Amino acid sequence: MPFRELGHDLIPLEEVQSTILRCLRPLEVETRQLGECHGAVLREDAVVREPIPPFDNSAMDGYAVRAADIAGASELTPVTLRVQGGLAAGDPGSGPLAPGAAVRIMTGAPLPAMAEAVVPHELTRFDRESVTFTRPVKPGQNVRRAGGDMRPGDSPLKAGTVLRGPQLAILAALGCARVKVTRRLRVAIFSPGNELVEVGSPCGPGQIRNSNAYSLLGLLESAGAEPIHLGIIRDTRDDVLAAIRRALEAGASALVSTGGVSAGDFDFVQAVVRESAQPGYVFKVAMRPGKPQVFGLFDGRPLFGLPGNPAASILSFEVFVRPALRRLRGEAKVLPETFGARFPFQYRYKPGRAFLLRARLEPDEPGGWRVVKPGEQDSSFLSSLADANAIIVLPADRDSVEEGEWRPAFWMGR
Ligand code: AMP
Ligand code: MG
Repeated sequence: MPFRELGHDLIPLEEVQSTILRCLRPLEVETRQLGECHGAVLREDAVVREPIPPFDNSAMDGYAVRAADIAGASELTPVTLRVQGGLAAGDPGSGPLAPGAAVRIMTGAPLPAMAEAVVPHELTRFDRESVTFTRPVKPGQNVRRAGGDMRPGDSPLKAGTVLRGPQLAILAALGCARVKVTRRLRVAIFSPGNELVEVGSPCGPGQIRNSNAYSLLGLLESAGAEPIHLGIIRDTRDDVLAAIRRALEAGASALVSTGGVSAGDFDFVQAVVRESAQPGYVFKVAMRPGKPQVFGLFDGRPLFGLPGNPAASILSFEVFVRPALRRLRGEAKVLPETFGARFPFQYRYKPGRAFLLRARLEPDEPGGWRVVKPGEQDSSFLSSLADANAIIVLPADRDSVEEGEWRPAFWMGR
């Protein structure tokens, strides 16, 4: 299938998402030192081999006792036990606790055999030789059991999990010094447009600054990809082809460009995808902004041709590129997770295509999220993105959201 133009009808956003995702497989796996794995995606289930914690230990600084020895303790009838010794975290352990004795024990120290519970030292009176209790304790109290957290055979992390601090801690606790993760995802950015100048340059007549490259730099990083910044290119077929070649040679696993995807005289990203991608797609998506999208594989590597209008390119990244990058990274969940956002006002929009409202959500009373009155939604305007943190998809077959309605939203930029 060299090229498909999917008819003249508008295609629903979800269909474009699934068409793109069907073309993509996770990148290769590599083995990496645990300390290098932050943000990486785990590619095998983590399996527990030894109980965590590995031994029964104290959850408190206090005294380990046999419960029966202080069963009768009260303010009126305090019980005093002999202190048999002391245990700190890291001590290899000690002999069994003798009847009628207590062991001074610190948090994390191994519980002596026959000890059943730990009484925090705040609840005791003690000197070096003896300790006095004024209440009983239940067996198991303030004791962390071997395997209480994770048992052999458990699989606390599944393949496809993004590794952040807590997940790294689990792997460390399991003793996984080297971890199978997806290799680094490098994504090339190029910016076709004869009107574009670099950010440090003054704008001559008819020129604008290349802002899209910078939204993409940030968005790629937030998606766990390493950007390869190829800069501004001229609006010619050869320059687009050369940029794609440079990206592939630089080792990019994916390419993102903005602009040049409509049917204008200078829209060579669309032309090149039509002519050379295998397969290639030119979509007219039933969404606003972001109707024109092109997508194709070059040497098996995806090129996302996003629309040039700055807001359209950012929203397109969120709905098409971010899920696709998650797929390439081998993440288990790729589509954005939605949650409800409440409109405290009526909001009117143009019907006919799903409307991607960029807005700020703030915490609502008594819980959940409330939409803050959004700014101008023109596809070329950046200002309403300044403090927007979410995208709310409004249905194509309506033209307003009523005051008090809840609509599905998802976070932008993460
Ligand atoms: P195009 O699809 O190439 O016609 O671009 C649509 C609109 O987006 C035009 O107004 C372009 O000037 C603008 N645009 C294209 N690329 C960029 C860019 N890299 N940064 C900012 N605006 C852009
Ligand atoms: Mg252009």
